[in-house]
Amino acid sequence: MSSGDGGIEMENRQGGRIEKLIRSDLSRLKAYQSIIPPDVLSERAGIPLERVIKLDGNENPYGCSPRVGRALAGYPFYHIYPDPEQHELRKALSEYVGVDAAHIVAGAGSDELIDLILRLFIEPGDRVINCVPTFGMYPFCTEICGGKVIDVPRDQSYALDIAGIKKVMDEKTKVIFIASPNNPTGNITTQRDILELVELGKVVVIDEAYYEFSGVTVAPLVPQYENLIVLRSFSKWAGLAGLRVGYGVFSTLIAEQLLKIKQPYNINLAAHVALQESLADIEYLRDTVKKIISERERLFTRLGELEFLEPLPSQSNFILCTVKKGDARVMYERLCRRGIFLRYFDNPLLRNSIRISVGKPEHTDTLIEALKEMC
Ligand SMILES: *Cc1c(COP(=O)(O)O)cnc(C)c1O
Repeated sequence: MSSGDGGIEMENRQGGRIEKLIRSDLSRLKAYQSIIPPDVLSERAGIPLERVIKLDGNENPYGCSPRVGRALAGYPFYHIYPDPEQHELRKALSEYVGVDAAHIVAGAGSDELIDLILRLFIEPGDRVINCVPTFGMYPFCTEICGGKVIDVPRDQSYALDIAGIKKVMDEKTKVIFIASPNNPTGNITTQRDILELVELGKVVVIDEAYYEFSGVTVAPLVPQYENLIVLRSFSKWAGLAGLRVGYGVFSTLIAEQLLKIKQPYNINLAAHVALQESLADIEYLRDTVKKIISERERLFTRLGELEFLEPLPSQSNFILCTVKKGDARVMYERLCRRGIFLRYFDNPLLRNSIRISVGKPEHTDTLIEALKEMC
């Protein structure tokens, strides 16, 4: 006990000194609020892992293509470093997206590309426009790069406030982030709004992590606009969240710069194999996407039948609901205790709300039953 305490004291003393060496802006930074892993959820609720209904991460309830596991098990070259220039991957992605491979760079999740884009453009004090409420990764990565986040709230239907964005733009503004469909509101931004922003000449990043659920994209426009970037992911539609594969579509100039500054081996070979195998089994994946979309519509209808909830139409694989009667937090906690996990929001922009990822039909049924019993 005493020797242990001594150890901690020593660490603390050194910690004080080392803290002065840490970048002061980073040492003050709040940690990113990521989702809680299923085993922790299961332990907290005291419910066996296989009975946990995880509807908090917008993950694919059907998992990845069954061919992925087989291909991973049989792959013979894990002892060789992956290709830093991602030739094969970029070629496969180029066929999927329909733009030349010179426009494509893959990342360890689209999260890595958000970080790389900001590293490329942001110097300390530069500004990044964030159309809130939206995905938390944009402000997080901006702050790590020493940039300043300028929040421009969306309007009542969560469309962009284009006039508001124009008003806050200045010389120091470099990048505008727009998730379309937006997380957590589920709505898309129109091509007209996107092009109006592109005309302003800043870097416009359209995050299409949920593209396969909306079918709406501006990726084919990227070769015409050097400041337009489209980010995509295999985490949601292809069920590869745990393997971390995403990609971006960029003007060739930006793509070259990103290839230059990224970690050479950023895509590990397991992710590489999984991505190629997913594209080779695209019919299977398109089928699960269809199932999720039709379940989204059924979930939307069922939620709308509950008089204390108001679900928002979604073009994604999740539904945001305003809790009209009762406390969203209490609802969230009660569901946790029953092993059903959602996201919960209560802030000035998202009052008393829950976000529900679309699961399998049986998950919808269990959730709706639990909600009905609650009121
Ligand atoms: C989930 C999500 C991502 C993250 O994708 P990864 O490829 O897993 O890093 C990016 N953007 C939005 C809006 C998301 O919701």
